[in-house]
Amino acid sequence: MRRFAPIPAVTAACATLGVALVAASVPAYPVQAYDRGPLAMAAAAQGASKVPVAEGYGGAVSTVDLDATRAGLGVLRKGGNAVDAAVAAAAALGVTEPFSAGVGGGGYFVYHDARTGKVHTIDGRETAPAAATEELFTDPGTGQPLPFEQARASGLSVGVPGTPATWQRALDEWGTWSLRSALKPAIRVAERGFVVDETFRSQITENSDIFDDFTSTRELFLPGGAPPAAGSVFKSPDLAGTYALLAREGVGALYEGELGADVARTVQSPPVAPDADRVVRPGGMTQADLASYDAPLRAPTRVEYRGLDVYGMAPSSSGGSTVGEALNILETQKLTPKDKAAALHTYLEASALSFADRNRYVGDPDQVDVPLDELLSQGFADERACRIDPDAVLPKPVAPGVPDGSYDGCGDHAPGGRGAPNEGLSTTHLTVSDRWGNVVSYTLTIEATGGSGIVVPDRGFLLNNELTDFNFTPSQGDAPDPNLPGPGKRPRSSMSPTIVLRDGQPFLALGSPGGATIITTVLQTLINRLELGMSLPKAVATPRASSRNTALQAEPAFLASPEGKALAAKGHRFTEAREIGAETALEFGRRGFVQAVAEPIRRGGGSAMVVVPAQGR
Ligand code: GLU
Repeated sequence: MRRFAPIPAVTAACATLGVALVAASVPAYPVQAYDRGPLAMAAAAQGASKVPVAEGYGGAVSTVDLDATRAGLGVLRKGGNAVDAAVAAAAALGVTEPFSAGVGGGGYFVYHDARTGKVHTIDGRETAPAAATEELFTDPGTGQPLPFEQARASGLSVGVPGTPATWQRALDEWGTWSLRSALKPAIRVAERGFVVDETFRSQITENSDIFDDFTSTRELFLPGGAPPAAGSVFKSPDLAGTYALLAREGVGALYEGELGADVARTVQSPPVAPDADRVVRPGGMTQADLASYDAPLRAPTRVEYRGLDVYGMAPSSSGGSTVGEALNILETQKLTPKDKAAALHTYLEASALSFADRNRYVGDPDQVDVPLDELLSQGFADERACRIDPDAVLPKPVAPGVPDGSYDGCGDHAPGGRGAPNEGLSTTHLTVSDRWGNVVSYTLTIEATGGSGIVVPDRGFLLNNELTDFNFTPSQGDAPDPNLPGPGKRPRSSMSPTIVLRDGQPFLALGSPGGATIITTVLQTLINRLELGMSLPKAVATPRASSRNTALQAEPAFLASPEGKALAAKGHRFTEAREIGAETALEFGRRGFVQAVAEPIRRGGGSAMVVVPAQGR
């Protein structure tokens, strides 16, 4: 454990930049030392190449990608705030991570406003078109649910994109830059090009069957019939044009203009290659669906966890409610680094219980009555917690509880429900802070890696397949399923952008991709950091396990660890997952100090930078 002592040279640099050095009370969780090893050059070499940990002052950016982190940091350096920088970084991710996020997708934006001390969120989730019904993914010929891949690579799966509306909304509400200015760095990356890395290339390779079946996608991502080589420069002139259009005309170009007309046309009539042999079903999205899109502000979820305030994303995401319920359950339990296996057993069981409740009760709050207050109440969590047996693994799937306000012990449970969610393993998360103490935790996606596989011709971006996050058939037995498709409905998400405050000040910000494992990745990282004595870099890097009630997975290194072996011996039946999540996170110390963290290994490693590096830490 190490307590931070301010470094005079850095303090002087911050003063030059007008960086506010905010005095804070002595932290209950001081920023902890981590094994710097090969990262020792991080501060000096910042910006030259990807490093997963950076420490210093004046604000920070952490994303999966060097160009995106640079884009955000450039905005901070020019005086933009965390919101401006988050939009710039997200737009750059649309260029360099086009298979995870972009104009054709959606996401959730969580923001801590230093001036008011409040946390706000934007729900930028895609919506189903007005023509959608509960049978959206039922084959009319057979009455059976469509195979997932057929549903995915179709116009049916495409929801009205929410990402441009989210950017505009965030800038309008809390930003200081125009969209035009915030898009500039991304336009530059798209025009000049970026160096293809192995992740980019492999994401094309694993999608090449689908990409090759759409003329526009084939042209962009399979030039000359093959994925671009790692190390080559990839330019996106069409996407640069799309961003330039949004910069010139605003997001109305999508929601009410020529770009929207192209999107609707592409969904209704996907550009299927003449030699394609797959069935590609058209979708029903119209320009009227685009015109009625809204990215509303929503009250964040909040739970208190051992004196900290943990803020997350309310429905339509299940992130905040499920992380929050699990934390409430875990708060009733003793977790100690002296017995990591016991702590992880409790984490897995709390997670399974919360997922049962998520699956039964959480859907689009504009169309489903979600008992959010009860799901996040300590009374409900106490009742759920008494299902956990420290000496045995609960038989799965566990049944959902009854969040009805009357909590009287362990006997009162609803009939079981099951349902394997279809979420993919795509998506990206970014975390940004600024010199004023504003913080953004933003997760964005196009659902599967590669989304629907359909690039809008001449526009340079992929359309999402977010609507496959709906359940294709009822999953809750005789009880209603809150996540069936419907007109104008938002599919339930697992995205969990999270901000933790301590004494009203930012302490942690984090999030991850990974479909339903997003929830467990955020939860496990919080437990690693808050309960198991790990520094934030260690908490992020450490091997992961994920219980979602109907699925239990672990990374190979977790399975090989003493805890993994002890948990397997106890009866946890893990299946192996090569990688779970790809997190980015921030931790705030005293006097404006910030530690920016990305993955050292997963997805090829991420990129963390700070405005004023703390030399020599
Ligand atoms: N569509 C997923 C969700 O909203 C995210 C996709 C992923 O990370 O795989 O939860």
